[in-house]
Amino acid sequence: MKILLLEDEPKTGAYLKQGLVEAGFVVDWVADGLDGLHLALTEAHDLAILDVMLPGLDGWQVLQGIRRAGKDMPVLFLTARDHVEDRVKGLELGADDYLVKPFAFSELLARVRTLLRRRGKTKESEYLKAADLELDLLRRRVNRGGRRIDLTAKEFALLELLLRRQGEVLPRSLIASQVWDMNFDSDTNVIEVAIKRLRQKVDEGFEPKLIRTVRGMGYILDVAE
Ligand code: CA
Repeated sequence: MKILLLEDEPKTGAYLKQGLVEAGFVVDWVADGLDGLHLALTEAHDLAILDVMLPGLDGWQVLQGIRRAGKDMPVLFLTARDHVEDRVKGLELGADDYLVKPFAFSELLARVRTLLRRRGKTKESEYLKAADLELDLLRRRVNRGGRRIDLTAKEFALLELLLRRQGEVLPRSLIASQVWDMNFDSDTNVIEVAIKRLRQKVDEGFEPKLIRTVRGMGYILDVAE
């Protein structure tokens, strides 16, 4: 899941980004409203978190731009303390929720998950499955054959991607951009290492084997016929 974060205050932005990454999200953090809107319109995000006061364009203008372009991702606003009119304006413009600064990170994370869950309900189930492997999107848990499997946040994101695109060969470049938020660099073996670990956890001791390498092309998760 990819989140667009617009926050011009460096400490707050870094803190939010780090927390969200640790919770398993990929985060595009931008401090300028114009850059943020550009990114929102050119890349796919599952959710946006917008501060109101920003250089370039303010949060309202960014939200309007997003909605005008027909993008319907959930938008969570961060507003200054007790600006009631801000909240009303934001909701009128198409924000899905707001949070008053200062807030606890756990509160932000709960709102983010609620918005994603609410949005997800109409589009997809809360579980992703292949054979006896089950990934619970809400509880962030993975089971295989009834046995709990503990994954790191990155491993979970990687498995989620493989399950969502089940039966498709995913090139390393796509995995790099979706899970690590980086451009593919052939010198790094971070993906190979992560796939290997994921396979040990998900496939070792189980049949059928689900994750395969397609030499020279990438990786695939599928249930062999
Ligand atoms: Ca600000």
